[in-house]
Amino acid sequence: MRKRWISLLVTGLLVGGVLTPASPALAAPTFKVPFPCGQSWSGQTRSDHSPAYAVDFNRTDDLGDPVVASAPGTVDRVTDLGGTSYGKYVRINHGGGYSTYYAHLNGFNVSVGQTVGYGKVLGWVGSTGGSTGPHLHYEQRLNGSDIQVRFNGTLALYWGTKSYTSDNGCSSGTGNGTVDTSGTPLTVRSGPGTGYASVGTVADGTRVTIACQTSGTSVTGTYGTSTIWDRIGSGRYIADAYVYTGSDGYIPGVPRC
Ligand SMILES: [Zn+2]
Repeated sequence: MRKRWISLLVTGLLVGGVLTPASPALAAPTFKVPFPCGQSWSGQTRSDHSPAYAVDFNRTDDLGDPVVASAPGTVDRVTDLGGTSYGKYVRINHGGGYSTYYAHLNGFNVSVGQTVGYGKVLGWVGSTGGSTGPHLHYEQRLNGSDIQVRFNGTLALYWGTKSYTSDNGCSSGTGNGTVDTSGTPLTVRSGPGTGYASVGTVADGTRVTIACQTSGTSVTGTYGTSTIWDRIGSGRYIADAYVYTGSDGYIPGVPRC
């Protein structure tokens, strides 16, 4: 988990003497660089781009290189505008009003209605539409409006050219976290829930390796209320509500148990 529970309490509003929780903003998806794991691409932003916050990606000999989904979602457009505008482009609906665009493609690898995850190949870099050379034109939008691009929550460079290295679809297999209980040792259970037997404790501040995550009983801890449990060994589970992992909810790339 990432967000500290205390911050939620602080943002509560006292209205007419009744404690009303502030309505949480819908979290943006964790967008990743739209190329396969480990690849580095030069991403350019410029104020005269249309739309302004789009990123044009290039690397050496990029014609035909695979373009991948930057976050899970549903493909809702696979369109060929011919020799104008985006040319061949794909749009993914990520829910919550968020969508991404992948334009000037050479060809398509998905169809409308298809569910895609991180790293899914959507098509290939091309120079279709109003393009003068091979590149990927990439956009993130919220409720249809062009927004500044973020990868793993970090804002892209505006304005200029920067190298972006993809961790999209990297199957790390395991995750890491740090136990945060404000002092008390955290009980380790034999299964994903408070009803399972105690099989030991881990001290506050312990760095743990998380082999997989699963859903179990709901626990309120340092980072809020969660049903997620982290498996830190064979028959050893701890409540994710007490573990700092850098992710709200499940950790990308870590499998379900
Ligand atoms: Zn562009």
